[in-house]
Amino acid sequence: MVYPWGSTPATNYLMSGDQTRLVLDGCAYTRTEKVELLCNYPTALRTLKVCWEGSAKERNCGVCEKCIRTKMNLMTVGVPNALCFDEPLNPADILCMRVRNDTQLPELQTILDYACKRGIDGLWVQNLRQRIDACIARKQAESNPVRGLRHLFRLCGALARRGLGSARAWVPGVEERATTRAKRQK
Ligand SMILES: [Zn+2]
Repeated sequence: MVYPWGSTPATNYLMSGDQTRLVLDGCAYTRTEKVELLCNYPTALRTLKVCWEGSAKERNCGVCEKCIRTKMNLMTVGVPNALCFDEPLNPADILCMRVRNDTQLPELQTILDYACKRGIDGLWVQNLRQRIDACIARKQAESNPVRGLRHLFRLCGALARRGLGSARAWVPGVEERATTRAKRQK
């Protein structure tokens, strides 16, 4: 199932109308495979626009996650200097690339798989592997049951302390009964 993020085959057809029919094409291809097809068309490589960030709206910013990811797609198919970007891929950018949603990590993993399958190695591949490992570690930490239990214990402790502290207020007569019992013992 395609992750429902922006464009998705599950609902895109709903944007069709009486005058316009929306046709989704190329879903069977990965992003790297699509980029590989573009390699046969220099005009497409020069005018490819993937970025919605940056101040120059007619150009790709070259530094956002999507731009860096596209540069890696291009590296994987042997195009290190596509004219749609002002600068080639800087491997250091991969390490600080922001991975913000659940669709991006599988995309990065796909690029790494392609690079490994094709025997491509280099600093950018090593950095990509390191970035993916860091993202996976972060996700595991977020969903780690031990961490979740620690949080639960902290919560229970806080509730217990709050409950003991306010028991006199919650149960009418507790304080009076305790005072009477103390007086009898004297
Ligand atoms: Zn960009």
